[in-house]
Amino acid sequence: MEISKSYVVPAPEQVSLPVVGSAARFPVRRIYCIGKNYVAHVLEMGGEASRDFPIIFQKPSDSIVQNGGIVPYPPRTDDFHFEIELMVALKSGGYNIPEDEALSHIFGYGVCIDMTRRRLLETESGPNAPWELKKSFDHSAPCSEIYPVSQVGHRDTGRITLTVDGEIRQDSDLELMIWKTPEIIATLSKYYALQPGDIIMAGTPDGVGPVVPGNTMVGAIEGLGDLTVQVGELV
Ligand code: MN
Repeated sequence: MEISKSYVVPAPEQVSLPVVGSAARFPVRRIYCIGKNYVAHVLEMGGEASRDFPIIFQKPSDSIVQNGGIVPYPPRTDDFHFEIELMVALKSGGYNIPEDEALSHIFGYGVCIDMTRRRLLETESGPNAPWELKKSFDHSAPCSEIYPVSQVGHRDTGRITLTVDGEIRQDSDLELMIWKTPEIIATLSKYYALQPGDIIMAGTPDGVGPVVPGNTMVGAIEGLGDLTVQVGELV
């Protein structure tokens, strides 16, 4: 049976990101996120660093905020945090990708911020609050342009920083990631058929903290340029 191409309500637009050096854009399918991937950040959260298994969650692709955009202050929190992270963009995928083939599936890299409702108004004891509500909400994924591997190579070291209103708040190096990018791709692909258009947010270093409306955040990774977003008023 042929499937109709017309819809009974407006169809959502394909979310996409600009690609440096190209007029064509990168279509975003899914956003996979890795948690607790730098020892110093795990410790500042009061946890114990471990290589037992990575924390994995997703954000909706339409939570992306473009470079230069506004991140409205989200509802039901009074502790809205930034987490600067490496973004990995895939050009191909599949199940069970071996670690030594993982890099061949990467289209490019960028800079992203995993915006987080660290505390929900309803649940004072943060750690037990549902991750879905803390992590996966509208405007929670500011992302930079994508820098193709063909131009910048693979990024597994390099300074990663975030400033708020010009003051440095996070300052680390990609080489401190507990789970390296090939391990992340190999692990994700055991559970999900990765696809072209998937992006991965690879976890944040230490120094996370709150922002309020009016703050300007600038994230940067050596060799991958800047990502600038402003915090807007409560939605
Ligand atoms: Mn994160």
